[in-house]
Amino acid sequence: MQSYLKHYIDGAWVESDGGKRHEVIDPATEQGTTEITLGSEADVNKAVAAAKKAFKTWSQSTVEERIALLERIIAGYKARIPDLAAATSREMGAPISFANMAQAPAGLGHFMGTLAALKEFSFSEQAAKGARVVHEPIGVVAMITPWNWPLNQICAKVAPALAAGNTMILKPSEEAPTNAMIFAEILHDAGVPAGVFNLVNGDGPTVGAALSSHKDVDMVSFTGSTRAGVAVATAAAATVKRVHQELGGKAPNVVLEGAKLGEVLPPTLAGVIANTGQSCIAPTRLLVHKSQVNEAEEVVKAIMEATQVDSPEKEGAHIGPVVNKAQFEKIQTLIQSALDEGARLVTGGVGRPDGRNAGYFVKPTVLADVTPEMRIYREETFGPVATITTYDDTEQAVEMANDTEYGLSATISGDPAEASKIAGKLRAGLVTINAWGPNGATPFGGYKSSGNGREGGKWGLTDFMEVKTIVGENA
Ligand code: NAD
Repeated sequence: MQSYLKHYIDGAWVESDGGKRHEVIDPATEQGTTEITLGSEADVNKAVAAAKKAFKTWSQSTVEERIALLERIIAGYKARIPDLAAATSREMGAPISFANMAQAPAGLGHFMGTLAALKEFSFSEQAAKGARVVHEPIGVVAMITPWNWPLNQICAKVAPALAAGNTMILKPSEEAPTNAMIFAEILHDAGVPAGVFNLVNGDGPTVGAALSSHKDVDMVSFTGSTRAGVAVATAAAATVKRVHQELGGKAPNVVLEGAKLGEVLPPTLAGVIANTGQSCIAPTRLLVHKSQVNEAEEVVKAIMEATQVDSPEKEGAHIGPVVNKAQFEKIQTLIQSALDEGARLVTGGVGRPDGRNAGYFVKPTVLADVTPEMRIYREETFGPVATITTYDDTEQAVEMANDTEYGLSATISGDPAEASKIAGKLRAGLVTINAWGPNGATPFGGYKSSGNGREGGKWGLTDFMEVKTIVGENA
């Protein structure tokens, strides 16, 4: 088992002050793979003090210095993609090909997008006669991230925070911490000044809560479940810090009447399969016109049955296990609840795929006759499970798509011109047509209970900055 027992504070790897050992489990084998230390409040205090001290100088760094630093990080990151991918794969179960092709490069994409945005960004603008508006770093930023796209979430925060002149403390997910430790090594080697970036491993109730409530933390940027996001905002409220939340989702896939199902469903269902369905924007909730429901069932069944489930170590286009026991059991419970509530199993179902008696492997599953009252229609599944619900007309489809507490993304399958007519009616921060992923350096974030704020490109940069008006300079 590998050991990463130290935290990265003030430019050095340091022992924890009172933390406790934690074993990270490989979801394919259910065996321990990495040992880390879950930090303490004392560790958080040290990291925050280092970030606060470093803010004095880093906040005054020039744009040229920040550009040069991002360029060095990008070079270092590219060189270590194989290490980042291997660590991600081992701890959260993404097959190694997917980790190399998608998981690790997703983080790099945020650095490149931020670099491009930084080069174009106007930090100062004449807003009115005699009034100038400037964008300044917020201060010390705490970042709390999940395991499902770990490097994507980390880099979506660290890149803009650095570019804006902030200093930071990252608490990566305790389920998949090693990719973050390697990322810290990349930042160190790229010459990030001491105290600008700090990493404290830990769990939510201890390190996450201490960061969220800390009086010297000016902003907390959180990605994870809506449950934990609410806890973070509640803990942050007394200190009136900025709270940025990227939370859960329950994305609909509105299949337009008359759509060529064989053409439009594979690219949208890819979002339910990729990463074993563990994406906050996975369009799992298919809404199909009543005239096409039989055909849709056949197409979706064929796609899910063609999906291979296999070991993360193997190269290939298969899917791996889900991240942990809790996630495995949650998916099983939701599938069973749907069956108990009257849904019909088209393929898959509860239990591990044939031939597997260990590892958190899930059967790619399709459920039909799903109605809006069912739990599986409303709760985030976070597994390779697609549901089919019928609608009568487009107006009803839009209403059903929006009938969720979430609003992170919505997918439309069908004629792009027709899809474009309803895109503006969907209450979600991202609408994808005949596709499921976000597009480059565009803003990413949720409506409703899916969050507050945006990440990506210039929108990410502005979310990590305060806005100041200076009046009277030219009086
Ligand atoms: P989680 O909420 O359990 O954990 C996320 C992070 O929060 C972890 O680092 C965890 O240690 C920490 N945490 C947990 N409780 C906390 C508390 N009380 N105070 C402070 N920190 C706390 O989520 P997860 O299981 O790691 O990730 C899956 C969830 O993340 C899903 O709901 C998914 O939709 C969401 N997600 C959202 C986005 C997005 O951009 N909107 C992206 C990826 C994942």
